Amino acid sequence: MTRYSAWSLLRAGLSGQKNWAPAWRDTGPKPGYDAVVIGGGGHGLATAYYLARVHGLRNVALLERGWIGGGNTGRNTTVIRSNYFFPESTRFYDFALDLYEGLSSELNYNIMFSRRGMWMLAHDRHGVEMLRRSANAMLRNGAAVEMHDGEEVRRRIPGLNPDPRFPIIAGLLQPRGGTARHDAVAWGYARGADALGVDIIQNCEVLGFDIAGGRVRGVKTSRGDIACDRIGMAVAGHSSVMAQLAGFRLPITSYALQAFVSEPMKPVLDTIVLAPATGVYVSQSDKGELVFGGALDLFPSYAQRGSLPALEQAVAGLIDMFPQFSRVRMLRQWAGIVDVVHDSTPILGESPVDGLYLNCGWGTGGFKAIPAGGYCLAHQIATGTPHPLATAFSLDRFRTGALIDEAAASGIAH
Ligand SMILES: Cc1cc2nc3c(=O)[nH]c(=O)nc-3n(C[C@H](O)[C@H](O)[C@H](O)COP(=O)(O)OP(=O)(O)OC[C@H]3O[C@@H](n4cnc5c(N)ncnc54)[C@H](O)[C@@H]3O)c2cc1C
Repeated sequence: MTRYSAWSLLRAGLSGQKNWAPAWRDTGPKPGYDAVVIGGGGHGLATAYYLARVHGLRNVALLERGWIGGGNTGRNTTVIRSNYFFPESTRFYDFALDLYEGLSSELNYNIMFSRRGMWMLAHDRHGVEMLRRSANAMLRNGAAVEMHDGEEVRRRIPGLNPDPRFPIIAGLLQPRGGTARHDAVAWGYARGADALGVDIIQNCEVLGFDIAGGRVRGVKTSRGDIACDRIGMAVAGHSSVMAQLAGFRLPITSYALQAFVSEPMKPVLDTIVLAPATGVYVSQSDKGELVFGGALDLFPSYAQRGSLPALEQAVAGLIDMFPQFSRVRMLRQWAGIVDVVHDSTPILGESPVDGLYLNCGWGTGGFKAIPAGGYCLAHQIATGTPHPLATAFSLDRFRTGALIDEAAASGIAH
């Protein structure tokens, strides 16, 4: 693997950019592997990387039916935060933040992590009460958070509408929140995994499983059968479909979630702002585009387009927060298929089939979890036991009733 540095950039520049090696190999599948990861999004790629780096498993394949990062990982609005209610969630998402903060240097790949802070606004007495609960829970769980009144919020967020449809009474700031470049997260993990010997296999769709005696023996793919008795699946919105192929059901509903990008502008917004009253949140990318999103299209769907009412609602909410953006032209709109679990908490760990492990249920908020989700799934695949940070997220909680209801902290799209 070529090590990226100022020197390698200079050298490539002087040699007409001709000597760059591909960031990962283009390989076909072998007949068998020690471990297979299905899904080339951030979670699958991080799993493959940590299997090789932390657990020394090198005979590993990652199978992606399209191109890596082409699912939700390349479609999200890149917000990273850990402002959840329950200690299990805060611990887990804080660990993801810890890994994110060191990821560029670990992978030798600039993921453009930007710790710019994230604001959640409150528009009425009940909203303020919710923010207080949230702040108290975060402080108890050891996550740094600040609460400010409306005047201070307006002072800190330049350009915020002083007289919006829903007044701004208070705001909660998680200074450690931020953004990262989503494609770079996928590509950085892919490059890191490939350098450690993992086969990244694109255009390889998993069509079924070979299961005997309740144990997985391999996968059937569009490029042939692959033998393997340790398989992790990280296929987000297609988790229910894949579970059906393996003969079980998941408590997951798939919805379309949309995102929007404006034309680029000079820097105008140096933080992330979320307005619960309209369900809209916005940040500005390093390229200068406004990146914003809103609520789910509230009907089950596998279409990566999204509906017009959700688009209209998001744009109206954005303009309510920042009226001056009404003159900005929109560049792109798209949707991803998100895997929403009924208690808004992910599912990590064993499935009803021995040797087949789950990483799903991230819903609208799994980008921020990628390093931790991959780390924990790799631990589960390599050791056969759940990582301590993930024990509470097992599928079994739907049998025992030990649900972790994070709907209030993650029910809005971000
Ligand atoms: C519009 C939008 C905005 C979002 N904003 C945020 C945000 O700001 N912050 C945040 O934390 N999260 C956000 N999310 C959620 C986040 O993007 C996802 O939770 C996260 O990317 C999930 O990663 P993943 O690796 O599990 O899934 P994906 O990236 O979707 O990867 C799954 C992969 O599995 C592949 N696959 C499916 N079926 C098969 C098969 N049969 N065989 C082989 N491969 C298969 C797919 O092609 C896909 O590439 C947002 C999501 C959307 C859609």
